[in-house]
Amino acid sequence: MALVEATSISKIYRSGDVEVAALWDVSLSIEAGEFLAFVGPSGSGKSTLLNLVGCLDHPSKGSMKVMGTDVTALDRNAAAAFRGEHLGFVFQEFNLVPVLSAYENVEYPLLMVRSWPPEKRHAQVMKLLKAVGMGELAHKRPDQLSGGQKQRIAVARALVSEPQVVLADEPTANLDHDTANKVIALMKHMRDEFGTTFIFSTHDSKIMEAAERVLLLEDGRLIKEQKS
Ligand code: ADP
Ligand code: MG
Repeated sequence: MALVEATSISKIYRSGDVEVAALWDVSLSIEAGEFLAFVGPSGSGKSTLLNLVGCLDHPSKGSMKVMGTDVTALDRNAAAAFRGEHLGFVFQEFNLVPVLSAYENVEYPLLMVRSWPPEKRHAQVMKLLKAVGMGELAHKRPDQLSGGQKQRIAVARALVSEPQVVLADEPTANLDHDTANKVIALMKHMRDEFGTTFIFSTHDSKIMEAAERVLLLEDGRLIKEQKS
């Protein structure tokens, strides 16, 4: 069974009488453990597609199965529970909670979705902070960290609940070249270590090179598939 199975997905946005097909008749299948990127020009539908895989949005047409579950049939609460159980997210803007320390940011999803005893939770948070090279900076708040450090924390937060899939929307867009390369290498290491599937949306040639499969979108259509 494929991890993600999208069949003839379309997403139409309406504003007034104008309709925009953000995605049109997209079918794809993603296997567990892939390190894969959706690429294409701005407005081509990358984020829309990532959000549909991430159960953050519903398609207008078509079916989306994630781990065998038809996620288009889930209501808001069920989708939130599914995300908490199976998915992790990394965003371009990091989206850390500013008033929480690095430690607390990573701990947060565990408090929400896993009822683990405090010792197990602490051990897991520290394991992830160390894995992303941030064990020493656990007490810092986001405004005391560099962009690269913030994205490391975001990667730790995405992985802390041991999701099967991490969805990362332009995760290197706010990072300089060297930092971006380090964060990409870190995510690949995490894939190798934990078997987590990584799905990116990106413009970044560094991610395209690192990706093992690249799906090219243009005007909402999946036009090409490249394997490196
Ligand atoms: P990308 O991530 O590749 O830049 P998006 O998925 O964000 O592209 O957008 C694809 C298309 O859908 C664009 O034309 C965009 O303007 C449109 N779009 C995205 N979100 C919305 C929305 N909430 N309402 C209306 N149009 C949208
Ligand atoms: Mg986008």
